[in-house]
Amino acid sequence: MAVVLFGSPGSGKGTQAKLLVECLSIPQISTGDMLREHIRAGDSLGAQVAGSIHAGALVSDELVNHLVEERLDQPDCARGFILDGYPRTASQAERLGTMVGARGMQEIVIHLMVDYNVIIQRLAGRRQCPVCCRVYNVLSNAEAARGVCERDGAAVIVREDDQESVIRERLAAYERQTRPLIEHFRNNGRQLVELDASTAPPQELFQTICRVIRQ
Ligand code: ADP
Repeated sequence: MAVVLFGSPGSGKGTQAKLLVECLSIPQISTGDMLREHIRAGDSLGAQVAGSIHAGALVSDELVNHLVEERLDQPDCARGFILDGYPRTASQAERLGTMVGARGMQEIVIHLMVDYNVIIQRLAGRRQCPVCCRVYNVLSNAEAARGVCERDGAAVIVREDDQESVIRERLAAYERQTRPLIEHFRNNGRQLVELDASTAPPQELFQTICRVIRQ
């Protein structure tokens, strides 16, 4: 099964993906984490995408499609995978459809719907552990508010693209290029599940997603 976690920046895709990995035993594929890893490694792909990411713009479809295609060829994806942050454009959605079809899998899209004001609050309070990539919010996690990851004690960081002006750009890119995909999913026979993700605590939302996937 190909699980697509879909929603605006800050909707909780990464948090839910990490919970689902443990329950479904299939890998999380976060294009954002993969791209940031290349930036951290200082390789040529990282240099190519750093400007777009730090400005809150999407990187090219060709590059991301290629990255995902290579990742899906790894043996751990044979039983399925959880996509977080992909697809984000019509071209990506089409390419994914082809990749999923070629693997004889079913695609299920879980749309996490969150109010705009909640999104802003979440993104502004977000911290990430550079070691295990776990994401926290200073409003709900005392350790993160103190500046450390509760799992490994590393100093948590504010992602460069979580600065306020960049947050606005990312949300604009979402509205312009990504939100319209919901219609694409509807019109192309994808299984689409829409969930209110504004208020439910992460664990509760996770239980709902598990129930939906098992059905
Ligand atoms: P968020 O969903 O909170 O914006 P991500 O970690 O998914 O965070 O993405 C961070 C950035 O990485 C995006 O703003 C974009 O520049 C780039 N990126 C990630 N996934 C994609 C994608 N599928 N297509 C194009 N750019 C992407």
